[in-house]
Amino acid sequence: MAFDLPSERDQNVLLESESGERFVLKLANPAERREVLEAECAVMLHLEPSGLTPRLIRTVEGSAIGMHGRQFVRLISVLPGTTLGTARLHTNALRQDLGRAVGRLGRALTSFDHPAFHRDFHWDLAHAERVIGTYLPLVADTALAQRIAAFAAYHRAHVVPMLPDFRRGVIHGDANDYNVLIDEARQSVTGILDFGDMVYSHIVNDVAIAMAYVALSAADPLAAAAAVVAGHHETHPLTEPELEALFSLMCMRLCMSACVAAKQTAERPGDDYLRISQGPLARTLPILAAIHPRFAHYTFRDACGLPPVPHAPRVMAWLAEQSARFAPLIGRDLRTTPVAPIDLSAGSALVSSEPSENTPAELDLRIQRRLAERGATVGAGGYDEARLIYAWPNEPTGTEPRTIHIGLDLSLAPGSPLHAPLDGVVHGFENAAAHHDYGPVIVLRHRTEGPDSVEFYSLYGHLACDSLEGLRVGQPIAKGAVFARVGSAPSNGDWWTHVHVQLVTDLLDVPCNVDGVVRASQRRVWKSLCPDPNLILGIRMEELPHHVPKSAIAAARHAHAGGNVRVSYGANPLNIVRGYKQYLYDDAAHRFIDAYNNVAHVGHCHPRVVRAVGDQLAVLNTNTRYLQEQLTEYAEQLTALLPASLSVCYFTASGSEANELALRLARARTGARDVIVMDSAYHGHTTTLIDISPYKHAGPGGEGAPDWVHRSPLPDVYRARGAHADPGSWFASRVGEVIADLAAKGRSLSGYIAETCPSVGGQIMLPKGFLADVYARVRAAGGICIADEVQTGFGRLGTHFWAFEAHDVTPDIVVLGKPIANGYPMGAVITTRAIAESFDNGMEFFSTFGGSTAACVAGRMTLQVTLDEELQRNALLVGERLLSGLKPLMGEFEIVGDVRGSGLFLGVELVRDRHTLEPAPDEATFVVDRMRQRGVLAGTDGPYHNVIKIRGPMPLSPADADQVVDTLARALRELPGRR
Ligand code: PMP
Repeated sequence: MAFDLPSERDQNVLLESESGERFVLKLANPAERREVLEAECAVMLHLEPSGLTPRLIRTVEGSAIGMHGRQFVRLISVLPGTTLGTARLHTNALRQDLGRAVGRLGRALTSFDHPAFHRDFHWDLAHAERVIGTYLPLVADTALAQRIAAFAAYHRAHVVPMLPDFRRGVIHGDANDYNVLIDEARQSVTGILDFGDMVYSHIVNDVAIAMAYVALSAADPLAAAAAVVAGHHETHPLTEPELEALFSLMCMRLCMSACVAAKQTAERPGDDYLRISQGPLARTLPILAAIHPRFAHYTFRDACGLPPVPHAPRVMAWLAEQSARFAPLIGRDLRTTPVAPIDLSAGSALVSSEPSENTPAELDLRIQRRLAERGATVGAGGYDEARLIYAWPNEPTGTEPRTIHIGLDLSLAPGSPLHAPLDGVVHGFENAAAHHDYGPVIVLRHRTEGPDSVEFYSLYGHLACDSLEGLRVGQPIAKGAVFARVGSAPSNGDWWTHVHVQLVTDLLDVPCNVDGVVRASQRRVWKSLCPDPNLILGIRMEELPHHVPKSAIAAARHAHAGGNVRVSYGANPLNIVRGYKQYLYDDAAHRFIDAYNNVAHVGHCHPRVVRAVGDQLAVLNTNTRYLQEQLTEYAEQLTALLPASLSVCYFTASGSEANELALRLARARTGARDVIVMDSAYHGHTTTLIDISPYKHAGPGGEGAPDWVHRSPLPDVYRARGAHADPGSWFASRVGEVIADLAAKGRSLSGYIAETCPSVGGQIMLPKGFLADVYARVRAAGGICIADEVQTGFGRLGTHFWAFEAHDVTPDIVVLGKPIANGYPMGAVITTRAIAESFDNGMEFFSTFGGSTAACVAGRMTLQVTLDEELQRNALLVGERLLSGLKPLMGEFEIVGDVRGSGLFLGVELVRDRHTLEPAPDEATFVVDRMRQRGVLAGTDGPYHNVIKIRGPMPLSPADADQVVDTLARALRELPGRR
């Protein structure tokens, strides 16, 4: 078999032998000189030991080059993998591995040379300027042409003068994404192809070219390019001047590509191959143009483990050395003045959970209170702190918000004078008056003393307006001189009263208004651009907020938590620091849609629940041994929502405790012990509940069911694959068989316990008629029917308040938990008076925390908010929106076997084969991990761990639903190996 492969110059044909061996027959461009082809063959032989390049197959005469008519031909082996260009998943791990591979190739090439590669080649990046100069007039898009001219001018001014000193050698010259082969599942590079562009040039050009193509397909081109640099530096270290030139070189490669394409389009209009990369180019060049080349340089240095800003360590060392000699900024020595730590990070209680309550006045009040508590008049904090307050609650979706505060804030009385800590001159000042900007801001320029003296800057923002009066650029400011005053809202940018102090090692050509809040993904680079201002302030460490890094928390957890207390997202767990409505925020103040946690029923930290519980805790929190109107009122409200027969409530501290109690009630009523359970069920973590939970006792580490527990099949209609005309009655008959078996053995039945929508079973919707049929059979056998509504109660299904209502049954015992009190520990068992009387056999029932005053208040308010905010109706609407987005995925993706559920209780089952229904657990985990990368938290469940579970707090909005669907679809599209 033979197929043509796309190529710009040669003609390539893929050959497959009958035994399945694959080769590429390369028919050289007739213009190609034999000498060049011989050189290519020589390099392939040289690189063969690298394992990254194809093997050259010789002709029967033993020659590397054969003839086809008058055309030169060569035969090479096909390497494993798919091209990077067709990959669906491009992670930075893959990009780093590409850097490694290009580096390995480059290192091998240092010992290779061939006269044919010492040539004047139009793709040689060393001649970028010339090529661009020649063809730029052919670029029709004027905006693009202007951009290219600007890149070229920068290159000419800053990089061309460096080039004579750069290392030279033979380079591959074209690691574009169709010349790179990868193993998509492993996210690693398997080979590099095509030696047609090899040329004796600057060694750094190989990595610059790989970076250029990687940038084209990346959402964040700089981070993607940096990953390539990091990998390359590991295997083939770059010199510091090369790192400095890299960004311009990669941009020049893209500009060359645009210019050569313009030339070729002029020559061969209508040639599709030429257009392949022009769309991404038009998208990427403006993004690159917006990045300061020195910022890119620092980012690449960081990727190589070097200090990002080369002179930053010198500045920091000098400042540390001088620390005792600075004048106090506030006129009082901060090393001896009492300072209160002011933590405004995402997880700080100083920041209200109601974003609208973080006005300057309210923050001032809270900070003043904190200062008073500490007996301090100065508050300080905020350097390298992840804050929500900048974008919250309107964070952009799809782009990383700026959250990391890179200055240090000093909270002082308005009008407080500020003294220059060291000699300097006014570098710039302005009134950055936009809302939430700096307001009046001054930048002073300083110089380190001694040899290798360097400039650096200090910035002071949120000043009083009169600070700028009479100021002029270049004006000297002597150490200790008052040069500004602290401002206040609204003229200080409309912030709380404080001065923002920032050190800057490179202003990146910004005259004055340097970013004070930056992206977490660029944190290390920014910390080098803006070192800790405490170097000039001298506040004692214990008087500054202390943020424990995630790695330290993970290590401590490892030391103190049991191994099977699992943390989600394995190697890269989340450190969640705040919940707000249906969102969670991590320690970088990045937002996640919580599509997983159904405990925060009315939304994380709902202010009405928080306030009610807080108020109650401040007054009284005791137990059921006293009359409590909080308990009786709650019980009345709860039972009013249940069938009349269910009138007696017991309160517990957890769902497990509630299920334990339900079993005891059934035993007390029937005098029997045996229970029937559903396969894959989970009812709680206690010893007895593990016994009745096949999900646990039949899983890893489980010891099987004891003799009093009898399992019935999980009524999974999807997996039954239409085998039964009436699945409800078929599955109920299986329960009937278990009952009959019990009777035959002379055992009597205590009860039947099941979730009314099995959750860990895989978000199962019970078939019609099943539950009514089962309950009738159980009752006929003298058993009690227990509905475990721990997952599904309180309107989650949208259609009904309780899941059992969807099945026209009334259980004898209903068990509630999880969402019942919005996260305050609580469970409830609600039953009939008759069962309660049987249980009242002389033994007291008492649960210390069950039904505590505060728990009842939490439950009551959660219920009230559920009703007031019509959350059941919201669950129905948003659930329908989710389903209408998720169902079509079954048509788009073979792997999506089933989409099911109701309201905000949904499951997406992934299968490798739609006929065998082979579960796809690894794929489900992959999808959930990728969703997390894009800010959506979901989970996997089901007996095969292949069902993606979508639940989440009830206030989930239609926009959130759309994002959940979009994120899920994108993750499915990225599944490695999917074609
Ligand atoms: N029943 C069901 C159906 C559950 O899902 C759970 C908890 N996942 C429990 C009972 C046990 O609740 P808890 O963890 O509060 O003890």
